[in-house]
Amino acid sequence: MKSLAYGILSAAVLGAAAFVSPALSAEAPDAPTQPFKIGEGLYYVGSVDYAAYLLTSKAGLIVLDGGDAETGKQVVANIKALGFDPAQVKVLLNTHQHFDHAAGLATIKRAAPAARLYASAADGPIIAAGGQGDPFLKGERFHYEPLKPDVTLKDGQKVALGGWTLTAHITGGHTKGCTTWTFPVTVAGKVRQAQVHCSSSVLPGYKLGKTETYPGQTADYEKSFATWKQLPCDVFLASHASFYGLKAKKAALDAGKADAFVDPAGCKAFYVKQEAAFRAELKRQNP
Ligand SMILES: [Zn+2]
Repeated sequence: MKSLAYGILSAAVLGAAAFVSPALSAEAPDAPTQPFKIGEGLYYVGSVDYAAYLLTSKAGLIVLDGGDAETGKQVVANIKALGFDPAQVKVLLNTHQHFDHAAGLATIKRAAPAARLYASAADGPIIAAGGQGDPFLKGERFHYEPLKPDVTLKDGQKVALGGWTLTAHITGGHTKGCTTWTFPVTVAGKVRQAQVHCSSSVLPGYKLGKTETYPGQTADYEKSFATWKQLPCDVFLASHASFYGLKAKKAALDAGKADAFVDPAGCKAFYVKQEAAFRAELKRQNP
């Protein structure tokens, strides 16, 4: 079950070529990895490739993305390992409804009954249906434990808790309700703008142009690339660790580079590459 799903999504990840470390293909994307601090109150709590972020405050905790079912358990364990109480998670956020980012949400919610899940109007119902209703990833192997969102997010909506203010940007294409998040965070003594990129990958098999995987998908990608180019992105983060080269940056962080995750140039280059891949695929399907 997992290997087929992994195959399809990792092929899309590998399509992003230069951003994938060679080690990724040898290691399962949901293998556990040590949680660590990215900035003041901001921690990585996901697996090797399925990212999840913890934002801490005295008013409670925020978790952004749950990974797959396996990652969800690791997120709970990682929060504890960092010395925080998972029951203090008050806000659950998500980048998109695919199993590798949403399947773990139900596990986190069990550890944090007071947590409220915020999801976009398009992706929320699919999370509530445990992955059923996705126009492309059909079949039981992509399904997961459902979790009903408590709040439906609008484009530009702000979610605030304990000094954190995150802005939701609905950037459809990869999924119709794909949500990119931006928020200020202090890294290496300076307030920077963080961005958690949803996904801009065109999965192998997606239809673009005249025939589409879902109606309006091509226009959504176009609109999203225009948005992404304008969004602040000093601290470049995403739903997949491989999108922003976590491994190399973590190594640099461990070697003493406190601002290893501050990478506006890498963010810009990522979008140039992703947009070129989208345009090439659009052209290939619509010669
Ligand atoms: Zn996805």
